[in-house]
Amino acid sequence: MSDQYEFPPFHVYALAHRCATCGAQPGQACDVPRKQAEIDKMNALRAQLGRELVAPDPLHLLHATRIDAGSRHRDKDIGKAPWPEDRQPGVRYDTLGEHWQPAQP
Ligand SMILES: [Zn+2]
Repeated sequence: MSDQYEFPPFHVYALAHRCATCGAQPGQACDVPRKQAEIDKMNALRAQLGRELVAPDPLHLLHATRIDAGSRHRDKDIGKAPWPEDRQPGVRYDTLGEHWQPAQP
């Protein structure tokens, strides 16, 4: 891993927000039974065919309103952070606090 600071991915930002669509609290998954059922159906089919199961894109299991909120938050953090070449090693420039732990080098 490089010592270059990387902002947390979009789904981590989205998860840190309360969902305006289903009311999921920060850190809780969205209530998306139909999307989950689609994935389960596809994986059941893959299992029948002896194929490897696919892990869904974490963004696919979140509501769009929540992704938008997370995305605005992420843009704001990136906008406030120094240019990549001016960032200090070991310093976090996101404002997610307890909602995210950077990977250990
Ligand atoms: Zn939701």
